[in-house]
Amino acid sequence: MTQITDSVEEIRRRTAAAARRYGRDPATVRLLAVSKQQPAESVQAALAAGQRDFGESYLGEALTKISTVTGPVCWHFIGAVQSNKTRGIAAHFDWVHSVDRLKIARRLSDQRPVDSKPLNVCVEVNVAGEISKSGVAPAELATLANGIANLPQLRLRGLMCLPPPEQGLEQQRRPFAQLRQLFDSLNDHGLGLDTLSMGMSADFEAAIAEGATIIRVGTAVFGPRH
Ligand SMILES: *Cc1c(COP(=O)(O)O)cnc(C)c1O
Repeated sequence: MTQITDSVEEIRRRTAAAARRYGRDPATVRLLAVSKQQPAESVQAALAAGQRDFGESYLGEALTKISTVTGPVCWHFIGAVQSNKTRGIAAHFDWVHSVDRLKIARRLSDQRPVDSKPLNVCVEVNVAGEISKSGVAPAELATLANGIANLPQLRLRGLMCLPPPEQGLEQQRRPFAQLRQLFDSLNDHGLGLDTLSMGMSADFEAAIAEGATIIRVGTAVFGPRH
């Protein structure tokens, strides 16, 4: 497990270096360690290395881990949200990054336990306009974001994207720049967003260049998934 400690430190070092390179304060970029398809022991090891935020994509797998891992973890749901999973997600997670329909958002708000703080939510945007991919189309984003902002038990924090893999920094930066523009335009209309969830193992430096505040890094922290 010392491998995980080393990897967490290495990602932190690269994150800070990228932030400085693009004129940003390293403290404004939060590492979300994506632990899907990784054992609870790996989460525990990263936690011991000071990591606090963990991302999961599958509810069943996540619930087992959430009940096993002990410590001050902030759990983020980053996978596709099906209607029959909203109750479990609303009860056991602090964040959901992958909301792309108002119907799902309403269920999450209705099912968030009343004694919990509002659930932090990002809207997933299909910036690259790919067919058969999740995420709301940019043209429909403002309507969805305004609808979510009015739900009592959700707190709309920002936007998320998951663009297809690209080689090369310039190509990688393009969809992140688009997400950033959509974020700025929602904020120009008073939505008060503070979160851009973008960048993974292969492209998080490009995402930091375009303003990412949460990078979602899996394999570069934990190694290959099981
Ligand atoms: C799996 C996953 C990641 C992490 O991907 P890596 O390439 O392993 O860093 C990030 N975001 C989402 C939405 C994912 O599903």
